Amino acid sequence: MTAVKTRFAPSPTGFLHVGGARTALYSWLYARHHHGTFVLRIEDTDLERSTQPAIDAIIESMQWLGLTWDEGPYYQTKRFDRYNELIDQMLADGRAYRCYCTPERLEKLRQEQMARGEKPRYDGHCRCGCGDHSPDEPHCVRFRNPDEGTVHFHDHIRGDVEIANSELDDLVIRRTDGSPTYNFCVVVDDMDMGITHVIRGEDHVNNTPRQINIYKALGASVPEFAHVSMILGDDGAKLSKRHGAVSVMQYRDDGFLPEALLNYLVRLGWGSGDREIFSLEDMISLFDISHVSKSASAFDTGKLRWMNRQYIMSLPPEKVAAHLEWHMRDQGIDFSRGPALPDLVRALAERSETLKDMAAQSRYFYEDVTEYDPAAVKKWIKAGTGEVLDRAAATLAQVAPEDWKAPALHHALEALAGEMGIGMGKVGMPLRIAVTGRGVSPGIDVTMELVGRERTLERIARARKELLPL
Ligand code: GLU
Repeated sequence: MTAVKTRFAPSPTGFLHVGGARTALYSWLYARHHHGTFVLRIEDTDLERSTQPAIDAIIESMQWLGLTWDEGPYYQTKRFDRYNELIDQMLADGRAYRCYCTPERLEKLRQEQMARGEKPRYDGHCRCGCGDHSPDEPHCVRFRNPDEGTVHFHDHIRGDVEIANSELDDLVIRRTDGSPTYNFCVVVDDMDMGITHVIRGEDHVNNTPRQINIYKALGASVPEFAHVSMILGDDGAKLSKRHGAVSVMQYRDDGFLPEALLNYLVRLGWGSGDREIFSLEDMISLFDISHVSKSASAFDTGKLRWMNRQYIMSLPPEKVAAHLEWHMRDQGIDFSRGPALPDLVRALAERSETLKDMAAQSRYFYEDVTEYDPAAVKKWIKAGTGEVLDRAAATLAQVAPEDWKAPALHHALEALAGEMGIGMGKVGMPLRIAVTGRGVSPGIDVTMELVGRERTLERIARARKELLPL
C-alpha cells in the first residue's frame, strides 16, 4: 500500500478562518493517523487576490494551532514553468487546444443558452483547430474534456458521486494573460507531490470530476477524495464576522487555547461515542474520515468557551502559562516581578473561561493596587473594619517569610476570626479588598501567598489609610 500523503492547500486571499482550519485539521489528522505525510501548499495563482499578509496569517495560524507540516510550504507561483511545460505538451498532442473566442462571442453564447433554458457551457467552437489564427493572437488554452461516458468517484464523506461528461465543458487551463488556472495547477501539484488523499472544502466537489479527467489525461493515478462540509453560524447562516470571531488568530487574541479550538473543531462534524474531550493523541488515534458528517455544522461559541475552560483547568499549568504569556504582554502587564505564571494559572484556572479574562484578572498580582471597587467597599468596609485590618496586619506580620504559604495564612486568619468572634468572611473580604482592590479573587490565602508577604502587608497598611482614614 502506498503511504498516505495529504495536503492543505489554501488560497491566500484572506486570513485562515475556522472552516479552513477544520479542513486542515482533518487532513492533518488523516496523515498522522496513517503515519503519512502532510503537505502545506499555498495556492497563490490568483495574483490579483493573493497577498503576502494573507500568506503570513495562514502560516502563523497553522503554527499556532500546531498543525505541523512535513513538506512545504510550496508556492504555486514558483511552479509556473512546470504547469506551462505540461500545457505545451498537451497542446502538442491535442489533449488541449487554443481557443480564440472573443469575450463578446462567449457572452452571446451564454445569453442564447440561457434564453433556451440551458446551462451555460462552452460549445467547443475552437476544438477543430480550424479558422485562420496565429498563436500570437490573444487566446486561452482549453482542456479537451472527454465527450462520452461518466466520471465517478467515491467521496469518503459524501459517498458516490457520478456525472456525465456531456455535462462538463472544456475547461480553460491557461488564461489569455498566460497564467494557468486553479483546476489545472491543483491537479499537477497533487500529481507531482504524490498526494494520495485530497481532503478539502465541499465548495470544490463540483471541480472534482473535471480534475479527475485531467488526471487521466496526464496519465496520473487519481487520488481519493473527501469533501468537508461548511461551518455555519449558530443561526444557520454562513459563518461571517457578524457571528463574532471567524479568523483563527482572532481566537488566539480572544484568549482561546489552540488545544481547545482543535478539540472543538474536530467535534464539529466528527465524534467517537458521546465523548467531548479529545487530546491530540486521542484524535490522531481515533480519527476516521469516513465518520465525518456530511451535513453542515453550526458554530457554537458558548460550547467553545466551555471547552476552553476544560482545557485551562486540565492542561499542565506550564503549558497554559506559555499561552498566557502572550496575553500578559498584550495587556501590558509586566509579569517579571510577582508570581510565576504557572502559579497564577493554578490560582485562576477555575475562574477563567479565556486566557484574556485570566490576564485581565491578574493585574493586582503584579501591579500596585491604587483603586478599590466602590461596590465592594460599600458592602464590606464598615466602622469596625479598621480594627479587623489592624489585627489582621499584626497577625500576618507574625507569619515568617518562609512560612508565607496558603495553609499557614489560612490558619492565622481563622484563628484571628475565632479570637474576634466574627465569621471568616468578615476578615477575608476587607483583606481581599485591601490586597486586590476587588471583591472577587481566588481564596484570600492563595491570593496573599502569590502577592507575597511584603506587598500584602504594604497593601493592608495603604488600604487602612485610604479607606478608613479616621
Ligand atoms: N485553494 C483552494 C481553496 O483555498 C483549495 C483547493 C484544494 O484544496 O484542492 O479553496
